[in-house]
Amino acid sequence: MNKKDYIEKAEENLLHVYNRFPVIFDYGKGVHLYDELDQEYLDFASGIGVMAFGYGNEDYEEVLTTQIKRITHTSNLYYHIPMVEAAEKLTKASGMDKVFFTNSGAEAIEGALKTAKKYAYTKNGPGDYEIIAMENSFHGRTVGSLSVTGTEHYREPFYPLMSGVKFATFNDFGSVLANLSDKTCAIIMETVQGEGGLYPADKEFLKKVRQLCDDEGILLILDEIQCGMGRTGSMFAFQQYDIKPDILTTAKALGNGVPVGAFAVTQNVAENSLVPGDHGTTYGGNPLCTAAVSQVFDMFEDYKLLDHVNKIAPYLEQVLDVLVEKYDFITERRGLGLMQGLVLTVPVKDVVTKALLDEKLVVLSAGKDVLRLLPPLVITERDVDEFKQKIESVFDTLS
Ligand SMILES: *Cc1c(COP(=O)(O)O)cnc(C)c1O
Repeated sequence: MNKKDYIEKAEENLLHVYNRFPVIFDYGKGVHLYDELDQEYLDFASGIGVMAFGYGNEDYEEVLTTQIKRITHTSNLYYHIPMVEAAEKLTKASGMDKVFFTNSGAEAIEGALKTAKKYAYTKNGPGDYEIIAMENSFHGRTVGSLSVTGTEHYREPFYPLMSGVKFATFNDFGSVLANLSDKTCAIIMETVQGEGGLYPADKEFLKKVRQLCDDEGILLILDEIQCGMGRTGSMFAFQQYDIKPDILTTAKALGNGVPVGAFAVTQNVAENSLVPGDHGTTYGGNPLCTAAVSQVFDMFEDYKLLDHVNKIAPYLEQVLDVLVEKYDFITERRGLGLMQGLVLTVPVKDVVTKALLDEKLVVLSAGKDVLRLLPPLVITERDVDEFKQKIESVFDTLS
């Protein structure tokens, strides 16, 4: 069967909720992907920030293969060793105290929202259910996570959603204060907004929000599903801010390609929120996924990956800054670490499509005008140079 037939078959059988690019990826090696004709693509998207170690990593594959042969599922009614090890490594890396593993990012957000509501309920009884979320945020597609996602056109067809959500302006403390009420139980935000266009939280803003939460006895939920797991140069982005959330969500790169997420809480939250019977999942934290998580944390140490990110990110930034200077349709570079965006005055969708189809360069967009780069964390200077050459070829056709 040829490519056209596969694409037709896909559209015949899959619900049409994505306008997919006409590319079939078959396998990957390092930071490169290969299609069904063995054509090579440079990957600066990592499957939306998931494949931190790139493709075909043998250390990772060996651990997963061994685990598949041993056991892949037990349910959460019993203990198993990969989950115990993964939980210990995640609490150590995040400085949080207790972990719950999920199957996705959205599900981690669901758990975080339930935990915040239960915390308020335990402390004050019913009634404190309001949540302050940020405009321009993205937290997922399930009903709860969609309710706190700050893009009206994602939410509107599905009203009524979860009630009691108020939207404040990101990085505007006055706007957060204006939305505070005696019913507020939590404030949720991404430490670095991803889908919304690569906006890091301002240091002062996040500190003030943290202080406000302490003063009011409400919880700070930081969504690091995209910006966590080394992406910004620290294991979690909040670790560059001198503060700590009450609830942290992670997913995407947490398992380097297996579907896994988690929310993690402080001791205080753990002691005053969910109890047996309040929450659960059949698959969440299964032996296969948590073996991957455990191995991911080990590989961060073995490869000294954070040091590597902190060395390579400035090199990428430098290359991007040259592009900002060179092309007048690029107005700005934004982001943190290996989470970078170029703000364009030309339609970003055209750039992403041209890059993929003409230059075999995989990149992402964020919103209407930001070219988003989430390369594997293991990229080298050579990969950045290859990126530069490919993206310049695309940009040259536009100027
Ligand atoms: C991707 C993402 C989510 C949703 O994760 P899924 O695994 O797609 O459900 C939530 N928050 C942020 C910041 C994300 O980038």
